[in-house]
Amino acid sequence: MEKVAIKTCSNYHVKTIKDILSAGLQDIGFPIGKAKVLIKPNLLLSKTPEKAVTTHPAIIGALAELLKDHSCTVYIGDSPGFESTNKVLSYSGIMTVIEQLELNISHFNHNIIKLSAGLSPYREFLFGDDPENYDVVINVPKLKTHAMMGMTLGVKNTFGFIHAFEKAKWHLRAGQDRLLFASILIDIHNIVKPSLTILDGIIGMDGNGPSSGRPRNLGILGISKNAFILDECVEKLVHLSYPTPITHLAKKHGLLPQYETIDDDMPEIVDFMMPKTMDTDWNIPAFAKRFLKNTFIKKPKIDKKTCKGCAICVKVCPSHALSLKDGKPLFDYQHCIRCYCCQEMCPENAIKV
Ligand code: SF4
Ligand code: SF4
Repeated sequence: MEKVAIKTCSNYHVKTIKDILSAGLQDIGFPIGKAKVLIKPNLLLSKTPEKAVTTHPAIIGALAELLKDHSCTVYIGDSPGFESTNKVLSYSGIMTVIEQLELNISHFNHNIIKLSAGLSPYREFLFGDDPENYDVVINVPKLKTHAMMGMTLGVKNTFGFIHAFEKAKWHLRAGQDRLLFASILIDIHNIVKPSLTILDGIIGMDGNGPSSGRPRNLGILGISKNAFILDECVEKLVHLSYPTPITHLAKKHGLLPQYETIDDDMPEIVDFMMPKTMDTDWNIPAFAKRFLKNTFIKKPKIDKKTCKGCAICVKVCPSHALSLKDGKPLFDYQHCIRCYCCQEMCPENAIKV
């Protein structure tokens, strides 16, 4: 039977995390051997570790040390939302780990066509790096809420394999259809096929995630060879009243096998705040959403006092529904597909939903 280890961990001390990871890998039956390994953290945008937007450097450090103890060659890579991989690595603190442990960087700046025969209607995806270049891919997401998809956990994290601005194309194709977007994310995840997923939930994020929510001391590390079951397990731990679209689809299509949870004495996670966007429209069919979007579906709104007029939101909007007027962004709600990429990428947390 497949296994998920949920370990409690109250701090980001590398030695403590390394011991916990060793125990967790034994629990789930994942032996480390000499290999070429790609670690894929969450490098969404350039934020420092205490903001809880990116995977904490201590987790990457502990994991990389473990791998190097077994003579692995270690690469770290991701394709951030709109910045360079190096910039986000520096802000996140992971660059220091890379330098100290002499790790390699993959900038995810190639154009590699990967074929899919999965759930979504799409058969090709353009990747920034080829998971097949590595013996082992280790997926290391951050536990966060997500305005469009409810939460971003293991399966969603592999969307980072999609080359930079190609991500916007997939948002545009999915529009407001969360289940269609979930099927795209599942297909991408199944192409990447990570051998292992380690979820950083020591300090996660709730509320207005994935970049401007509330950092939360949750004190957990999740470890599994199967990100679908890890995600479901975590959704139950934070007491979601309905599964995320990814878990819903995974269940429906037989991607959620029976599993055993191996846990320490779990702290009770209470008052986990979901994004407001998930309150009302999860079950509305996509065709109805097109008509109801201006009444039912939460609009992104600008906080003009906080906005610095950098125009990043204008650049990342997949449907060109934003323009700058008098130095501040102006929304065209008729064209807005409610993907919330603008809120996700705003470096000043000036967009609320
Ligand atoms: S809302 Fe955010 S991303 Fe958009 S212009 Fe203002 S500060 Fe920049
Ligand atoms: S305005 Fe924001 S939410 Fe609307 S389509 Fe553009 S990026 Fe997505």
